[in-house]
Amino acid sequence: MDSIRSVCVYCGSSNRAPEIYKQAAADLGTLLAKNKIRLVYGGSKMGLMGIVSKAALEAGGHVTGFMTQFLYGYEGGHEDITELHIVESMHERKQRMFEASEAFIILPGGLGTLDEIFEVMTWKQLGLHNKQIIIIDINGYWSPVFTNFFHHMIDNNFVRQEDQNLFTIVRSIHEVPDCLHHPKKHDKNFVAKWG
Ligand code: AMP
Repeated sequence: MDSIRSVCVYCGSSNRAPEIYKQAAADLGTLLAKNKIRLVYGGSKMGLMGIVSKAALEAGGHVTGFMTQFLYGYEGGHEDITELHIVESMHERKQRMFEASEAFIILPGGLGTLDEIFEVMTWKQLGLHNKQIIIIDINGYWSPVFTNFFHHMIDNNFVRQEDQNLFTIVRSIHEVPDCLHHPKKHDKNFVAKWG
C-alpha cells in the first residue's frame, strides 16, 4: 500500500443506506487519510460519499471531488473538501476521477456506482489500464453481482474465467492495506481476449 498515493472510491449517494455500510465508508475514509492516500470521489456530501469524504478530512486527509454543474445545482457539493472541481458532464466527471487515481475501491452503492465500476472494469478488460479494482463486499452486498452473476456470464461464455482477475473482493476494510498495491505489469488482456 506504501506506494499508492491516490485512490478513487465509488459508492452510493443514498442517505438511507444501512448503518453497516455507513460505518464501512467512515472506516475507509479514515484508513486512506492515515496512510496519506488522497481520496478521489464524486464530490458529493450525500450518503456514503459524504461519509467517506468527511472521515478522510477529519483524519487529516486530502480529498479531491469531481462534480457536474448539473448535480452541483441539484444537491450541492461537499464544500469542505480540499479540492472540488465542477465539470461539464458525467462523462468528464468519470474521466477526471479515473485519471486522478492509481486504484479504485468500491463500497456498496446503486446504479451510479454500478456504472462507475463497470466502466473501469471494462476498460481494464480491454487493456486500457491495469489499475487495481478492489470490491468491498461488506455483508455480501456485491455477491449477487460479482459472484453469482459473474459466474453466470462465465458459464455462458460472455466473460472468460481469467476475467475474475480484473478485480479483488474483500469482506472488510481491514483487508484493504494487504491488497492495495500497484499492478506489477501492464496486462494487455484484450490482445488475446477470445484467442
Ligand atoms: P448511486 O450509486 O446511484 O447512489 O450513485 C453514486 C454516484 O454515481 C453519484 O456520484 C452519482 O452522481 C453517480 N451517478 C448516478 N447515476 C449515474 C450515471 N448514470 N452515470 C454515471 N454516474 C452516475
